[in-house]
Amino acid sequence: VRPPLSCPAVTRRLLILGSTGSIGTQALEVVAHLRALGHDLRVVGLAAGSNAPLLYEQAHRAGVRDVALAANGAAAPDTLRVREGPDAAERLVREVECDVVLAAMVGVAGLPATLAGVELGRDVALANKETLVAAGSLVVPAAQRSGARLLPVDSEHSGVWQALRGRFPSALPARPDPGAPPMRCPGDVARITLTASGGPFRTWTREQMARATPEQALRHPTWRMGRKVTIDSASLMNKALELIEAHWLFGLEADRLDAVIHPQSIVHALVEFADGSVVAQLGVPDMRLPIQIALAYPARVPGTARRVDLCEVGRLDFEPADPGRFPALAFARRAMELGGAAGAVLNAANEAAVAAFLRGEGAPAFGAIADLVGEALERVRAPAPRSLEDVLAADAEARRWVESRLARGVGR
Ligand code: NDP
Repeated sequence: VRPPLSCPAVTRRLLILGSTGSIGTQALEVVAHLRALGHDLRVVGLAAGSNAPLLYEQAHRAGVRDVALAANGAAAPDTLRVREGPDAAERLVREVECDVVLAAMVGVAGLPATLAGVELGRDVALANKETLVAAGSLVVPAAQRSGARLLPVDSEHSGVWQALRGRFPSALPARPDPGAPPMRCPGDVARITLTASGGPFRTWTREQMARATPEQALRHPTWRMGRKVTIDSASLMNKALELIEAHWLFGLEADRLDAVIHPQSIVHALVEFADGSVVAQLGVPDMRLPIQIALAYPARVPGTARRVDLCEVGRLDFEPADPGRFPALAFARRAMELGGAAGAVLNAANEAAVAAFLRGEGAPAFGAIADLVGEALERVRAPAPRSLEDVLAADAEARRWVESRLARGVGR
């Protein structure tokens, strides 16, 4: 028996990019849950990287005909219209009518398809933070031109969005003024603070961290996530990327953005107003909650995640991030100060260094990831991007720089 709807049913066609990943699979659970509640949420397309068996199984279960796979050559059922190759996800977005694109691919690989969704004026539920870090200066004006709304899925940005709700109809309302600078947060918002769990190395010394193995770095204390974002959480690069993401989503400069370590991962974000009043958002660390908030927006309906029981949690701790052990936050501020292609360079250097670290053999030590990113940010200069091609050129240049350092054995 369906529980009664507490608000009008949502009718929405959905494309999920990165359906086989951690966010993608949880999004499919959320869709099933919302459908069971009576909402008409239909998945009309799925995109993945190389996991063809899971992609096809998901398509079969959700009754989806249109799919995209970045890898080539996997035999597919006849019932599917499969697009293959590196631009397959972008073609899926351009060819399949939908209302919402959930951008949950990992890395800057998700940028062209996400930007396509924005240009087409779709609502874009954004998990893929690398897109805004690398190309916020293209994505935000494109959303302003097309009227696309960016609905944050990252839990901290969802928290900010919820704390600000009532102030904005969405995180980024369409502006009638093409090419205008990004929307400014109201002047009475003094500061936005994002929380970080501190990852597995919160209490480790710098020396211990420097030589940590991938296995140790992948052991996250509070969140279950894909491998790349888990490594980013261990170095706090994830929080660095999120500060830049918040800069673009909410139109705040670096001096009004902050990050604080909160090991329980219950408070996700805090918005402080000019008068000193602070509005915080709390929830258990379960990504199905922010995914549901974005997909069901503006409806608030029963969720699948457990509820916060503060007496059970007992205490909420907060501590500053040690800049000596976690230099990533300073890199985020530096990238915002530099502007131009700095976000693309920071992101690409990090993607290249993390991929090398995870490959294992002959790889850089954990501590070298931050060193490589910091150096790339200062050394690699690329013109301020005016197009997707410019962003991808800056991205390629930063990757080449990191690869050349690694080839010389730097960081081992
Ligand atoms: P995963 O590694 O678990 O999944 C990544 C997904 O992207 C997979 O479906 C993968 O496909 C797909 N993919 C990779 N490359 C391509 C490509 N070239 N074309 C199409 N699809 C591709 O990552 P997560 O789900 O953890 O993270 C996804 C994004 O969400 C990241 O940007 C992350 O920072 C962000 N995020 C994640 C959170 C989490 O809790 N996991 C929380 C907040 C944000 P395949 O499996 O076939 O390779």
